[in-house]
Amino acid sequence: MLPTALSDTIVALSTPPGAGAIAVVRLSGPRAIELANGVFRGKNLTEQPGNTLHYGTLRTDTGEVLDEVVVGLFRGPHSYTREDVVEISTHGSDYIVRELLALLVRRGARLAEPGEFTKRAFLSGAFDLAQAEAVADLIAADSALQHRVALNQMRGGFSQELKELRQQLIDFAALLELELDFGEEDVEFADRSGLLRLLTHVQTVVQRLLRSFELGNVIKNGVTTVIAGRPNAGKSTLLNALLNEERAIVSAIPGTTRDFIEDEVSLDGIKFRFVDTAGLRETTDEVEAIGVQRTRQRVEQASVVLYLFDLITASPAEVAADIAALPVPGSARLLLVANKLDQAPPASVAIFQQQFPDLLLLAAAPRTGLDELRQHLLATVRREGLDAGSATIVTNLRHARSLEVAAQALEAVQLGLNTGAGTELVAADLRQALRALGEITGDISSDDLLSSIFTRFCIGK
Ligand code: GDP
Ligand code: ZN
Repeated sequence: MLPTALSDTIVALSTPPGAGAIAVVRLSGPRAIELANGVFRGKNLTEQPGNTLHYGTLRTDTGEVLDEVVVGLFRGPHSYTREDVVEISTHGSDYIVRELLALLVRRGARLAEPGEFTKRAFLSGAFDLAQAEAVADLIAADSALQHRVALNQMRGGFSQELKELRQQLIDFAALLELELDFGEEDVEFADRSGLLRLLTHVQTVVQRLLRSFELGNVIKNGVTTVIAGRPNAGKSTLLNALLNEERAIVSAIPGTTRDFIEDEVSLDGIKFRFVDTAGLRETTDEVEAIGVQRTRQRVEQASVVLYLFDLITASPAEVAADIAALPVPGSARLLLVANKLDQAPPASVAIFQQQFPDLLLLAAAPRTGLDELRQHLLATVRREGLDAGSATIVTNLRHARSLEVAAQALEAVQLGLNTGAGTELVAADLRQALRALGEITGDISSDDLLSSIFTRFCIGK
C-alpha cells in the first residue's frame, strides 16, 4: 500500500529558475495527465500512451495562448516516480512558468516540496535510499570521478552489496530468534562457528567500505590544500599558476593577500580546493594579525598543507621554525615547497636540500616544476579503491556513520559468541547491526531521516 500522502498530484519547475532556452515543469501523481490535458490544446493527452511526446499550445483559463510547448507523457509504473508523470517543456520564461504553475495549482495540483519527486520514487520502490541520495550526488557532481561514483551508486551497486550482507545476517538472526522463542530449553539452531565465519566475512566487507569513505570523501568534497608561507614567498603566484588564471592578487609588497582566495581545480579527476592564505609572520598590523589568525584556522582544517618559502630570502632555520609552528592536523599531509628556483644561488639550494630531503623545488612565476608538484599532490590521496575499478566507494557521511555503528555491533556479536554470552545478548547486538545496515538503503527508515535527506534536494528534483 502506498501512503495516502502519495495520492495527490505534485508540480514543480524541474529546470533551474531564471531565463533559459527551455523550462521543464513536471507533474507527478494520479491526476498528472488529466491536469496537463486541461491546460493543453493539441491531442487529448488522456488518450495517449506512455513514453510519448506531444506538440501543442498552453491555454489560460480564458483560452488565450500562453506558449507553444512539447509535453512528455509517462504512465506509471514506467516513470521516474512510478506514478503518472507529465513533463511540459515551455520556453524558458519566468512569466510563462509562473503562469503555468498557477494554472495547474488552481486546477488541483500541489507545489512539490524539495526532493519530493525523488522521495516518491523511493517510497514507491523505484529505488532505495542510497540510490535516491546518489541522484543528488549525481546532480552535484562536477568531476569525472564524482560522476562515476555517484552513477554507480545510483544504479544500485552499493545497495546490492549491502543487501547481500544483510540477507546473510538476517538468516542467522532468524535462527537465533527461534532459539529465543524456545525459551528455557537449551536448543541451538544456529551453528555458532558458521556464524563466526560469516561475521568475519561481513566485517571484512564493512571495514573495506569504511576505509573507502576516506577516498569517497575526497572524491565528493575535494582535497582542501592550504598554501601557507611568509609574505612574498610567492603563494599567490603559485595559486595563479595552479589555477591557470589571474585570480589572486600578486604584488611585491609583503602581506598583500589579506582575504582568502580559493578555487578548485580537478587534477586527474580529483578535485583540489586551493586556499591562498594571508601569511604567517608575526605582526603588529591589526588587519594582518587577523589574517595570520585565520591562516592558522584554515591550516587546522586542511587535508594538505603546502608550506612555501622563498629560496632567495629564507634561511633553513626560519623554515624549520615556521614548519614547527604550523598547526598541521594529524590527518593532514605537509608538503614542503621551495619557490623562486630560477633566481636562487645553487649553493643555498643545496643547503636547503640537505636539511630538508623531501623538499620540492619550483619556480612559480616562470611556472617550472609545477607538474612534479601536481604529482605530489595526487600522491597525498589514497587511491587504492579507485584502481579496483568498479569497487564500491562510500561517499556519504550518513552511510559511513551507519557502517561504523554496524561494525561496532558486529564486533559485539563476535565477542559475545567467543565468550559464550547468552543468545539474548547476541541476538540483540545482531539486530542492531541489521538496523544500521538497513538504514543505509532505507529498508529501515524513519520520517525524520527521510525528511532530512529529501529536503536537501532542490525543488523539482
Ligand atoms: P605571496 O605574498 O606569498 O602571495 O607572494 P606573491 O605571489 O605575491 O609574490 C611575491 C613576489 O615574488 C612577486 O613579485 C612575484 O612576482 C615574485 N615571485 C613569485 N614567484 C616567483 C618565482 O618563481 N621566481 C621569481 N623570481 N619571483 C617570483
Ligand atoms: Zn599573496
